[in-house]
Amino acid sequence: MSLIETARLTKKYNGNAAVDTVSLSIREGVCTALLGPNGAGKTTTLNMLTGLIKPTEGEIDFNKNYAGDRRKHIGYLPQYPKFYGWMTGEEYVSFSAELAGLSKKKAKESTNKMLSLVGLEEDRRKKVSGYSGGMKQRLGIAQALVHEPKLVILDEPVSALDPIGRREILELMKTLKQHTSILFSTHVLHDAEEVSDDIFIMKKGKIIIEGGLSELQQKYQQPAFFIETE
Ligand code: ATP
Repeated sequence: MSLIETARLTKKYNGNAAVDTVSLSIREGVCTALLGPNGAGKTTTLNMLTGLIKPTEGEIDFNKNYAGDRRKHIGYLPQYPKFYGWMTGEEYVSFSAELAGLSKKKAKESTNKMLSLVGLEEDRRKKVSGYSGGMKQRLGIAQALVHEPKLVILDEPVSALDPIGRREILELMKTLKQHTSILFSTHVLHDAEEVSDDIFIMKKGKIIIEGGLSELQQKYQQPAFFIETE
């Protein structure tokens, strides 16, 4: 069943389409990759799904089983998250929980749960300024999960990390898949192949290829299907 669907989603800047009539269907309970080169329109698409920017045209529908504003069912880690270095990891996540409307008690419980899920239990009382890049991304993921969203959207979660940080986050995403639906963007085919079930390939604002990972791997000789996007 689809968790979120878009119909002819379009965003224009000065008459130019950054996202051009994109129709996506994101399944519940799986990990979906939005793959494409720089400037393809990935961030713009994700920002429309999260409600951060308004589409110029098109529709976004969230599964009707989940009532109310879709934003409360979505957790988001932006490509360039802003961390408050003077806070501890614990303070940062519980602050986000309270901003999301959780009671103090629930915020505390959920903060503990998510910090443990992302492997930051022992570092929770350290200042964020002392965290490595990988730890900051894990903290950002804990923050995105703290209100227990149905869909977590991660914009290029590994692109700024060194190989160790990259590996940590990819492994974490494999664990997260068991708890929530994930939609993430990347420009690296191997990352999409490693963790995703479904892939949408975007180029110049349009979806040019879509399908299940194994179906696409059978249909296209690797890495040819990615080279097409360059
Ligand atoms: P990257 O991997 O570099 O982040 P992306 O696939 O996420 O790329 P977007 O950031 O969505 O791509 O950008 C898609 C296109 O829209 C680009 O040409 C970009 O310059 C343009 N664009 C995005 N935001 C704006 C804006 N606020 N004003 C004008 N143009 C914009």
